[in-house]
Amino acid sequence: MPKTIVAGNWKMNLTSRDALTLVKILDNTIESKKVTIVLIPSFTLLPAVASVIPSRFSLGAQNMHFSAKGAFTGEVNASQLQDVGCSYVIVGHSERRHVFGESDGMVNKKVLAALAADLIPILCVGETAEEKDTVDAVLKRQVETGLASVTKSQMKKVVIAYEPVWAIGTGNTATPAEADSAHGVIRKIVSSVYDVKTAESVSILYGGSVKADNCKELFKQKNIDGALIGGASLDAEEFSSIVADA
Ligand code: PEP
Repeated sequence: MPKTIVAGNWKMNLTSRDALTLVKILDNTIESKKVTIVLIPSFTLLPAVASVIPSRFSLGAQNMHFSAKGAFTGEVNASQLQDVGCSYVIVGHSERRHVFGESDGMVNKKVLAALAADLIPILCVGETAEEKDTVDAVLKRQVETGLASVTKSQMKKVVIAYEPVWAIGTGNTATPAEADSAHGVIRKIVSSVYDVKTAESVSILYGGSVKADNCKELFKQKNIDGALIGGASLDAEEFSSIVADA
């Protein structure tokens, strides 16, 4: 799989009919073979999307519970995601952390449960507007705790997404230099926990108001290996154009 990843987080949008139309248009408009493309619909849409998704695209889920099974009404586990064809799962998205109160400890349990079920976790980290002055410390805590007990060999199956909370859904993208610097910090943290080789091989995606008109400069940065796209992933033309620039 190419190290460059463009993932579309559809969040809580679309019906199965809209989703099928979107997949069809993306299949017709995306040509690049240099990019790993991951489509990440709501849970209810996963079976419909899995039934039509071309094999050159991967399917992901937006969240999961860390337990293998049990009395967790409303939750979905890693093997259920595997069962419907997912190979990726977003873990610790800022909306989960800040709207639904997920802690670093819960995020770590999800990362470990995803890996145990052979799903690739996309571990999301990023500072809030209030934490901008302490971004390095926030990233250190989120990355180190999020990856606790993950082995070096498991790191081959981990993707990290840097998503500054103040940039998500706001139209305020981090500048390419700001994003690259945060990605560099994340790579250094991975290097100090594991080693340089692991840090160089991990894909670190940028997320936060990425659009067709601002992605080119972001993708030129040394430490940016792709993007996690929210709003713009619902627009086939925008998403295809971002993939073409990746
Ligand atoms: C996201 O939800 O991960 C995201 C980056 O959203 P947006 O692109 O809309 O800012």
